Amino acid sequence: MRRTSYTEDHEAFRRTVRKFIETEVVPVYDKWYEAGIVPREFYYKLAELGVFGIEVPEENGGAGIESFKFQAVLMEEAARAGVSFGGSSVHVGLCLPYLKKLATDEQKQRWLPGFAAGEIMFAIAMTEPGTGSDLAGMRTTAKLSEGGTHYVLNGAKTFITGGVNADRVIVCARTAPPRADDRRFGISLLVVDTKSPGYTVGRKLDKLGLKVSDTAELTFTEVRVPVEDLLGEENKGFSYLGQNLPQERLSIAVGAYAQAAAAVRFAQEYTEQRNVFGKPVASFQNTKFELAACKAEVDAAEAVVDRALDALDADELSAADAASAKLFCTEVAARVIDRCLQLHGGYGYINEYPIARLYADNRVNRIYGGTNEVMKMIIAKDMGL
Ligand SMILES: Cc1cc2nc3c(=O)[nH]c(=O)nc-3n(C[C@H](O)[C@H](O)[C@H](O)COP(=O)(O)OP(=O)(O)OC[C@H]3O[C@@H](n4cnc5c(N)ncnc54)[C@H](O)[C@@H]3O)c2cc1C
Repeated sequence: MRRTSYTEDHEAFRRTVRKFIETEVVPVYDKWYEAGIVPREFYYKLAELGVFGIEVPEENGGAGIESFKFQAVLMEEAARAGVSFGGSSVHVGLCLPYLKKLATDEQKQRWLPGFAAGEIMFAIAMTEPGTGSDLAGMRTTAKLSEGGTHYVLNGAKTFITGGVNADRVIVCARTAPPRADDRRFGISLLVVDTKSPGYTVGRKLDKLGLKVSDTAELTFTEVRVPVEDLLGEENKGFSYLGQNLPQERLSIAVGAYAQAAAAVRFAQEYTEQRNVFGKPVASFQNTKFELAACKAEVDAAEAVVDRALDALDADELSAADAASAKLFCTEVAARVIDRCLQLHGGYGYINEYPIARLYADNRVNRIYGGTNEVMKMIIAKDMGL
């Protein structure tokens, strides 16, 4: 089916990105993979390509385009090539909406030009060792100093994507205790400078997949955060998370769909050239049926993604819509990638084949951004259950 949610501008951007990935990423990707991190300098290249500034307002040094679709194209192209860009997807896909919606004009002027230029890389820290799904249970605290000039931040976060490379991290912390009738009250967002005394980057976590992504533990010991770096209003952080998580979940759906599409392509190419019992694996009826069934699932996921992208651009994507898109596309991707790996035989299990890395990279899509069980809770609540 012809896709209708992308315009010629998006397709032109797609061609540019595809070439960029072929020349700047594919040749060095194995090195990133071994090092377990995307080199910091690469983010300047992405910035030069204009990727970080697309949605940044013109007055803050960006192109001022109000659409997530260019980022979606970038994610689709990365998946198509079997690569990922580490923390930069969080920088632009997750953190920018918070900054655009919540930062004051003065904060935007301070942060966004550097954001667009790749000079200030952002990450976001919600999850803690003791709490992930139940974010209202977070224990990191930020106490206002006596003179009211700064917050004193104490606590720990874990699983923070881009946590090693980040220059600023949007940290969710308790500025007030929860209320008896509202556990979500009392959380605030602080934009913390990672060079602040008392701010420590702990282990870079050794993960099953997403090897090039620097996922880190962070600890805060008496970190002084100027009040000027509070994002939005004090104690309203939980509602800000609720407003921004739909875009995060859609971006996971887009990535998962694109990985599934890539898996089908990898499996078709592989089975066409691999001979078994004297003929290509692709010639067996089982292979054709498997690939056809996978293609049908990918097409369905594509339709969901395209509709959700249109809804997001129209500011109509509800929390339940985004949860459905994430749930559906990530479950499709899990099934499709597994079946496509099977068609590779033993080579599918070897990391030098892109399908093996895809299999490992894809697994987390059902966990992060809120687990798929949490997605079901959101959808069920929306159904009145
Ligand atoms: C690679 C990676 C990158 C990440 N990046 C970031 C990041 O940049 N920033 C950030 O803040 N976080 C990040 N996370 C954290 C991620 O969002 C959490 O891991 C996720 O929300 C789940 O939280 P948890 O790990 O504490 O699991 P838990 O909350 O402990 O869940 C354990 C199990 O219990 C289930 N469960 C929980 N509640 C219920 C319920 N009410 N009913 C039924 N089942 C339930 C869950 O679905 C899951 O199966 C990342 C995680 C990973 C692995």
